[in-house]
Amino acid sequence: MEPQWTRDIKSFTLGQLQAQMEAMGEKPFRAKQLYEWMHKKMARDYSQMGNIPRSLTDKCRASYDYTALEAVRVQESNIDGTRKYLFRLSDGNMVESVWMRYKHGNSVCISSQAGCRMGCRFCASTLDGLERNLLPSEMLDQIYAITLHTGERVSNVVVMGSGEPLDNYNNLLRFIELLTDENGLNMSQRNLTVSTCGIVPKMRELADRKLQMTLAVSLHAATDETRKHLMPIAERYGLKELMEACAYYFRQTGRRITFEYSLVAGVNDTQEDARQLSSLIGRLNCHVNLIPVNPIKERDYVQSGRHAVEAFKNKLEKNGINVTIRREMGRDIDGACGQLRRRYMES
Ligand code: SAH
Repeated sequence: MEPQWTRDIKSFTLGQLQAQMEAMGEKPFRAKQLYEWMHKKMARDYSQMGNIPRSLTDKCRASYDYTALEAVRVQESNIDGTRKYLFRLSDGNMVESVWMRYKHGNSVCISSQAGCRMGCRFCASTLDGLERNLLPSEMLDQIYAITLHTGERVSNVVVMGSGEPLDNYNNLLRFIELLTDENGLNMSQRNLTVSTCGIVPKMRELADRKLQMTLAVSLHAATDETRKHLMPIAERYGLKELMEACAYYFRQTGRRITFEYSLVAGVNDTQEDARQLSSLIGRLNCHVNLIPVNPIKERDYVQSGRHAVEAFKNKLEKNGINVTIRREMGRDIDGACGQLRRRYMES
């Protein structure tokens, strides 16, 4: 069952919290104090809120839920220091998040749903389907828990863990509002990336909000035929529609699209694929991230070899397309989407 928004104190905006306090007969400034404890100081529960009277925290306890994650497992990569967290939500569901340290700052990759119903063939998160959407607070909690655990500021957030963020659209929007609120972490929209498998109508809705975040689109194929083979969502929205939505996103926001392209040996990694990809996206203001597919044991997809990856990259570059090969982080710790959660649930 979906948890209730109306009871979730950490998903309220400051304005909503003020209205709640007023309805309780409390002073309005209490709302700001509570909000700062939750979103600035990242309190794990009311007992840490030193300047709030006991009578008020008792009332809050009775009226609202206070989400908090429990870290069940933390794995650290010996190769690059990447940390992978497995968190238990209040109702027992599990999600995973990843912390990566880059030269320009720390990045956290969060999940937006427990499980996923998109069915991409190479992805471990979707193998058991969707459990439920995460609340805005539960998306924030992943960042808060990791900040407290590492003791270091998070400078970038990518919504690229388990789940399809545009399939949890309203909660995603509230999450963004809270994350970028000056009374909370006050993160810049420019330091946020949201990754979608390509839910076209929601991409257009998002474009109309004119946010300054980066939209990443998981493309993985340059023809409808190959894309349908890898991603069921391609049955609903064809590449033509998807490309139009990407162009619309750029027109509305001025933000260039990032395309993610996971290279699978013999499926989408030939020179002909690179040529088709170039003509598909060549006119868009975009950037391509090439990711050698991370094989999961439930499927027999094979990672493209180094040579094929380089040749693919060169072909795109020759055609004037911006491209990077995504550095594989945390290979030794089940870095791929949904692998850690799955392993835990099987054991
Ligand atoms: N649902 C969103 C975000 C989560 S998946 C989306 O589809 O974009 C994040 C990215 O990891 C997507 O590009 C997804 O296609 C990719 N991915 C998932 N499993 C993978 C694997 N085993 N190897 C390489 N990339 C994978």
